[in-house]
Amino acid sequence: MRYVSVGDTDVKVSQLCFGTLQLGPLFSSMPPVQAAEVLVYARERGITTFDTARAFKSRDLLTHAFGTTADIVVIDKSSARTYEEMERDIAESLVELDREEADIFLLYDVRSREDFSLRRGAWDYLKEAKEMGLVKAIGFSTHTVEGAALAAELPEVDFVQVTFNIAGFGILDGDLKAMEEAMAKLKAAGKTVCAVKPLAGGMLARDRWEEALEFVFGHPLVDCVCVGMTTHEEVDANCAFANAEPLEGTLRETLTHMPKRLVILDWCTGCEACLPVCPTNALFMQRGIAKVLPERCDWCGKCGPLCPEQAIFLLPAPPRESAEGKE
Ligand code: SF4
Ligand code: SF4
Repeated sequence: MRYVSVGDTDVKVSQLCFGTLQLGPLFSSMPPVQAAEVLVYARERGITTFDTARAFKSRDLLTHAFGTTADIVVIDKSSARTYEEMERDIAESLVELDREEADIFLLYDVRSREDFSLRRGAWDYLKEAKEMGLVKAIGFSTHTVEGAALAAELPEVDFVQVTFNIAGFGILDGDLKAMEEAMAKLKAAGKTVCAVKPLAGGMLARDRWEEALEFVFGHPLVDCVCVGMTTHEEVDANCAFANAEPLEGTLRETLTHMPKRLVILDWCTGCEACLPVCPTNALFMQRGIAKVLPERCDWCGKCGPLCPEQAIFLLPAPPRESAEGKE
């Protein structure tokens, strides 16, 4: 595994970072002990960097798996809009992770220059937190070209997470080429660039996962890649791509045929954009949010890219659900 320095800080991230959203209770598919086992296995494979956020509710999984060890790097994020909210969120993160100093802390989901200006207070406290020694490295996460370009202009930004995958899915205001241009600006400004959603929340997992991983791990503008994982097999496969090694044994077959389940998180706003694209009519509205009929979903991945809230995911199904599913 390759490790990358973050800006001029002493933080080093592994080229493959572990996204913990899918292991957390929002997806509620796995007991905490089993989730911790996957995290520990990833650490044994050389993954030192784990991605969480206040909204993911997965920080306690990290303390459960690793205790208070400083042996891992945590990327944490907050949706704070004000100075006071960011102050509260950083304090909460330090308590929940049982740390005196956060490794990397980001302003979550910066959508535009206007959005950033409305959240200026939160950014101001984040900068102060770095000066006070509460955070080592700071930056943004963003699903937009505009957010990435803005991050390149801010001298205080060390680390930027951008939505980036071979299909350009999930980039809210442009295409792959436009995001690459913004990433080139980030690199020219000395920022560390972390690609998130390399499989578009699992939407590329059925047919295109190998070329999608090859693309992002081999991309010259990407320093590290954050991938959500829930199984040992996914850890092994992602490590192989990060290390540019061949897939061992039956890994390719296992992952290609692994049963999946579609999950719509409760941050769905009910815009109904996903419904018309579903070729099997698996999606419907219930009490203002989208729901799925699992027996009708064939995991085609068409709905996720249409969701402006990034609320739709395709994940490996736990064995019980696989047995009950349509197989
Ligand atoms: S993955 Fe395809 S089949 Fe399943 S709900 Fe989305 S669009 Fe419909
Ligand atoms: S596109 Fe996203 S936000 Fe809109 S209804 Fe579907 S899941 Fe909900």
